[in-house]
Amino acid sequence: MTQAIDPTQTAATFTALKCKECGAEYEPKALHVCEYCFGPLEVAYDYSALSRLVTRQSIEAGPKSIWRYRPLLPVATNNPIDVGTGFTPLVKANRLARRLGIKNLYIKNDAVNMPTLSFKDRVVSVALTRARELGFTTVSCASTGNLANSTAAIAAHAGLDCCVFIPSDLEAGKVLGTLIYGPTVIAVHGNYDQVNRLCSEVANTHGWGFVNINLRPYYSEGSKTLGYEVAEQLGWQLPDHIVAPLASGSLFTKIYKGFQEFVKLGLVEDKTVRFSGAQAEGCSPIAQAFREERDFITPVKPNTIAKSIAIGNPADGVYALDIARKTNGNIESVNDQEVVEGIKLLAETEGIFTETAGGTTIATLKKLVEAGKIDSEETTVVYITGNGLKTQEAVQGYIGEPLTIEPKLDSFERALERSRTLDRLEWQQVLV
Ligand SMILES: *Cc1c(COP(=O)(O)O)cnc(C)c1O
Repeated sequence: MTQAIDPTQTAATFTALKCKECGAEYEPKALHVCEYCFGPLEVAYDYSALSRLVTRQSIEAGPKSIWRYRPLLPVATNNPIDVGTGFTPLVKANRLARRLGIKNLYIKNDAVNMPTLSFKDRVVSVALTRARELGFTTVSCASTGNLANSTAAIAAHAGLDCCVFIPSDLEAGKVLGTLIYGPTVIAVHGNYDQVNRLCSEVANTHGWGFVNINLRPYYSEGSKTLGYEVAEQLGWQLPDHIVAPLASGSLFTKIYKGFQEFVKLGLVEDKTVRFSGAQAEGCSPIAQAFREERDFITPVKPNTIAKSIAIGNPADGVYALDIARKTNGNIESVNDQEVVEGIKLLAETEGIFTETAGGTTIATLKKLVEAGKIDSEETTVVYITGNGLKTQEAVQGYIGEPLTIEPKLDSFERALERSRTLDRLEWQQVLV
């Protein structure tokens, strides 16, 4: 049995869970909904203590992982579960920028995050560290794929029992990339929203720590590190514009919170960062609400190849809408064909192979540039949140085949000639 830690006795800088709607406060336990108004709970910090504790120097002296920001995360221990998550590359994307006709473009590359190659490693590292503090010995999640990978891997590292729930139609790479760590995997006949509903019931009956249900306030704070890292990697300043994918909307709202906290602590200068969101047309309830100027979300039934972001009833959708509007950003959707083209475009220009969520984000970036909604001079950061090796079926049939030859020089020369002819034909088709 792991020992539960009393946050008042340790290095904790967070003080309570606070309802985002009515402001009611709760002890920082495994809770996620307000019992008065059913609003979501969020972690509240002691910012005056934080401003004494956190400086650029103290952060720079920390580990090259999300834990360099430990005082800004909702864990009490000085010994968190650190599997090297975070501090992923921020890449200046000159070739992609030129192709799109803009000047200052960066890719935040969480396709190479540790240990499971998606941004979910951030939220899970935080959630499982907190789960251990709260005394949970079994951890769980409702997942569209990446979260199952992260929860299973990091639970294995931490020696926690693990049971994950996924929709039964996920990509092979996501399923295999979960099973390998040896958790119990429950594949549910149904979409993510149905899986999530089932998990809420299980959370009530089994006393497990569900990273994105009863531990959600802690879990979601992990996404703030995507904001912190970008600000730090830009030389302690905020970008002008960010583009990020939206599933539940949580990641989007927490990048915003991360930037705001850095301003509040005097780590960066204040400025309005424009927030633009990306969804796949086959599951775009937030983009639809944005387009129709509604301030409520109408749930949809997902039908897209971008399964990792296919959440039909997004918990943080209204908060994401609000941020896009008040920062003069946009929320756009792209179709599945554009998603595939987005994946190829990023691979061919920057050497980064992303999954369907990243394809959605790149295709949305392109659409925003073409519509004049991104200024060519703006410092724009695009968040690439997952790795393409996990969603290979999405691009199969769209990327050609290897040239298969005999082990002879003339066989090679003929193949090369053939491929050049094919290239010319393709160019002729483009020119016609
Ligand atoms: C989960 C996920 C997201 C979005 O997460 P939310 O915080 O729910 O909006 C984006 N990209 C990838 C690859 C994901 O797995």
